[in-house]
Amino acid sequence: MDFSFSEKNEHYRARLKGWLKTTFPHEKSYRDNKTIEEKASLYRMYQKKLFEGGYAGIRYPKSLGGADGTLTEEIITMEETAPYARRFFQNVNVAGLSMALPTIFMAGTQDQKESYITNILDGTHIWAQAFSEPNAGSDLASLSLSANKENDVYVLNGQKIWSSYAQAADYGLVLVRTLNSKPKHAGITYLIVDLKSKGITIRPIKQNTGNSELNEIFFDDVSVSVKNRLGKENEGWKVALGTLGFERGLGDVRDAANFRMLFKQLLKTAIALENRQGYVVTDSSFKKELADLYIKMMVHRCLGRKSAYQIIKGKIPGPESSINKLLWAELHHEFSETAISMQGLAGPINDDSVYSVDMGFWQNYLLMALGLSIGGGGTEIQKNIIAERVLGLPRS
Ligand SMILES: Cc1cc2nc3c(=O)[nH]c(=O)nc-3n(C[C@H](O)[C@H](O)[C@H](O)COP(=O)(O)OP(=O)(O)OC[C@H]3O[C@@H](n4cnc5c(N)ncnc54)[C@H](O)[C@@H]3O)c2cc1C
Repeated sequence: MDFSFSEKNEHYRARLKGWLKTTFPHEKSYRDNKTIEEKASLYRMYQKKLFEGGYAGIRYPKSLGGADGTLTEEIITMEETAPYARRFFQNVNVAGLSMALPTIFMAGTQDQKESYITNILDGTHIWAQAFSEPNAGSDLASLSLSANKENDVYVLNGQKIWSSYAQAADYGLVLVRTLNSKPKHAGITYLIVDLKSKGITIRPIKQNTGNSELNEIFFDDVSVSVKNRLGKENEGWKVALGTLGFERGLGDVRDAANFRMLFKQLLKTAIALENRQGYVVTDSSFKKELADLYIKMMVHRCLGRKSAYQIIKGKIPGPESSINKLLWAELHHEFSETAISMQGLAGPINDDSVYSVDMGFWQNYLLMALGLSIGGGGTEIQKNIIAERVLGLPRS
């Protein structure tokens, strides 16, 4: 496996770096106290500039608004844009960019591709993933949001939950039950739903961080045209498995770049605390913790590059990607726990008072990180996958 990039690719990286620096020149402090609306509008501006610069949808055809580039160029773009994506809250539209885009490209009709793809790439539309329900999370195939077909529309009734940024979204990827079947997944249909439709109520959920990025969505006699179906009726499960695969996709490449930024930030915190408290950088136990974190971070990066390499070779990363999902969630916890334990008496303070460190950034980071062991497949589910499908152990 060769992780180095060709001269042509390094030339692409240099050109992109220069473009990013001149297009987005200002540094931003890292306190995240913007409203969802402010984040959505910063994201739209950022995405529009990427689109205009030819750096959106790297691997998508130009006819749909993409850049007709290569997978390696996409990997480089993810690495280099990671700090900007964070600064301009690109995660507001993770469902549009990482899920709707590849799913519609894979399973959509020509009409659907033309209607939705360019509007995702140029920042016009934000999307939400509406799969989970109060009684269908890890066991997603148990979902029960009903869709009764009346002529050329489905009429939806029921509820979704935990839908990230749905309050800012224009469209939703929605799984519905069209048949009470056995097995359960054989009666599921996949729909594109305009979230501004009559009968939809979106209610934000207040989280432990004080933010409300997650939402409940209620459907009360909502009409959705059959033209908005992705794939065949009752065969939505297959399409949904594609979406869940895309959800991680090349995400490890972006996450590795994010961890490197976070590590730099952690070192800055350590040095500032050393100056304030007289220990930390010189304390051997913290040095060991920082070194352990760095090693884990590099393991995550190598596994991510290994998956990317497999994708470049035309292979689909297998159940091994669960190892990196586990590592990713653990790293988020450990970064914030290490930063908090360095802070001594200031550790429990998560506001921006004179006693807090970094305006409570790490405390809020830990609260956010707790959910990462659940979202995108819980820790126990990942461990089951690794045990059964990677190690070949018997089912419990
Ligand atoms: C930050 C965040 C963002 C999210 N964003 C979205 C979104 O945008 N759209 C969306 O549709 N959903 C979203 N979700 C929902 C997420 O997909 C579900 O929370 C997840 O699938 C778990 O489902 P659940 O919450 O119903 O928990 P449950 O499935 O009830 O699981 C509860 C606990 O039991 C464990 N468990 C469950 N089954 C087993 C088993 N068979 N063996 C061993 N242990 C088991 C789980 O690992 C977990 O620890 C998000 C969740 C989070 C935390």
